[in-house]
Amino acid sequence: MKGKIKIDSELCKGCGFCVITCPKGIIKLGTTFNNLGYLPAMVIDVDMEKCTGCMLCAEICPEIAIEVWQEIE
Ligand code: SF4
Ligand code: SF4
Repeated sequence: MKGKIKIDSELCKGCGFCVITCPKGIIKLGTTFNNLGYLPAMVIDVDMEKCTGCMLCAEICPEIAIEVWQEIE
């Protein structure tokens, strides 16, 4: 199963929970501050190919900033 996520950079508070939770290690904290003054999490396009859609990142996020799509093969 493949997946894809979208992180709302304006909701994200840069806590890093999703970074340490993702079993694929594809989520990183960005280098540009959002309007709240946090460095929001992000996934670069080439790494998104590794996403399985497991939803762990969305479940751990306290800000409900992550949406997940799953592609059923
Ligand atoms: S859905 Fe799973 S594999 Fe994809 S980014 Fe989130 S934790 Fe990582
Ligand atoms: S868990 Fe949510 S708030 Fe924390 S860094 Fe990830 S997306 Fe941002």
